[in-house]
Amino acid sequence: ARKGKTPEEVVKKYLQKVRSPPRRGPGVGSISRGESVGRLSACGHEYHLQCLVAMYNNGNKDGSLQCPTCKTIYGVKTGNQPPGKMEYHVIPHSLPGHPDCKTIRIIYNIPPGIQGPEHPNPGKPFTARGFPRHCYLPDSEKGRKVLRLLLVAWDRRLVFSVGTSSTTGESDTVIWNEVHHKTEFGSNLTGHGYPDPGHLDNVLEELRIQGIAEDESLQ
Ligand code: NAD
Ligand code: ZN
Repeated sequence: ARKGKTPEEVVKKYLQKVRSPPRRGPGVGSISRGESVGRLSACGHEYHLQCLVAMYNNGNKDGSLQCPTCKTIYGVKTGNQPPGKMEYHVIPHSLPGHPDCKTIRIIYNIPPGIQGPEHPNPGKPFTARGFPRHCYLPDSEKGRKVLRLLLVAWDRRLVFSVGTSSTTGESDTVIWNEVHHKTEFGSNLTGHGYPDPGHLDNVLEELRIQGIAEDESLQ
């Protein structure tokens, strides 16, 4: 957290002033004084300052801002993944579709706990089902790149979240965030297994949307 900066200061850091605010259509409310409008510096999308401040206050206030239109990230995006452990090692077996290399197994372990202020129901317990969760990547050049970026995602608390599981419907539980993992090793009965030729590229794209890429110019 960037201590000492108010939400308005954080937002203003990423904005350039716009001289004339966008005109509103008839009947869409009146233009009040002080409705200052800014242009996000990298992507150029324009918003009312107070709209971006409200959006920032609804998030986890980590000093970063994401353009609602194009998802460009300003600063470093972090999530609300609860405390836990990420480990990995190589196992001497090949995944379907990757016959020429061994396999990286990632093991995530997150215990149940109490929700913090960054979670949907602060002070209420959350459950953690199906841990440890085992995930698999080919131990190829691209698979190792995905692993490096997943380690960054873990540090930024972006691999898991707390919310309602779309699989079980349970609320206040640990769920996967927006980055897909393969949890099935030798088959693909769940759709979360191999072979899946597009998987590594999909994950790289999902990581990029979270602001994580090896090419810093994409962040
Ligand atoms: P979710 O169901 O809300 O889904 C979030 C994302 O995770 C979606 O993109 C979904 O496609 C993906 N996903 C769903 N099932 C997955 C799986 N098996 N492997 C990899 N990705 C998966 O998120 P969730 O509740 O965290 O995921 C459900 C999975 O969690 C279950 O399939 C299971 O692996 C595990 N789980 C286990 C138990 C248990 O008691 N053993 C209970 C609940 C959940
Ligand atoms: Zn934008």
